[in-house]
Amino acid sequence: MKQLPIILLMILFVSCKSEAQQEKTSKDYKVQKTESEWKAELSDQEYKILRKAGTEPPFSSPLNDIKEPGVFVCAACGNELYETKHKFKSGTGWPSFDRAIENSLAYSSDRKLGYKRSELLCGDCGSHLGHVFDDGPKETTGKRHCINGVALDFKPKEKS
Ligand code: FE
Repeated sequence: MKQLPIILLMILFVSCKSEAQQEKTSKDYKVQKTESEWKAELSDQEYKILRKAGTEPPFSSPLNDIKEPGVFVCAACGNELYETKHKFKSGTGWPSFDRAIENSLAYSSDRKLGYKRSELLCGDCGSHLGHVFDDGPKETTGKRHCINGVALDFKPKEKS
């Protein structure tokens, strides 16, 4: 029984650690650019959303209507993030997916709206993409990746 506090401490340590592992610091990203480099490369709107965690107005993205097979890549670095087959109609006005391409994302959290939200970042360059919520399609993952269309470029699947 004496060992119980130690075991509890160990569990606490392990669970804190696994949560921390999801988060990357800016030095961990494969693509490294200075803010002035990003500013020069991206449009004003892209810079505001990708690098300053802005949000585009709902129903503003032409990517909302894309249904053809293909891949959505990071508009900042070209990292492949989402596939059309995992896109669904959420009715929110932002491109929505039930999952990302494996190991393509990094995670953070913010309290900009007064409550904690899970932020989604490009796993290669750390640019802000959107947020993930637990109200996605129940028949698949139950997740809703709510993504700014400005943060993505669409690459249609090549017809063979
Ligand atoms: Fe990126």
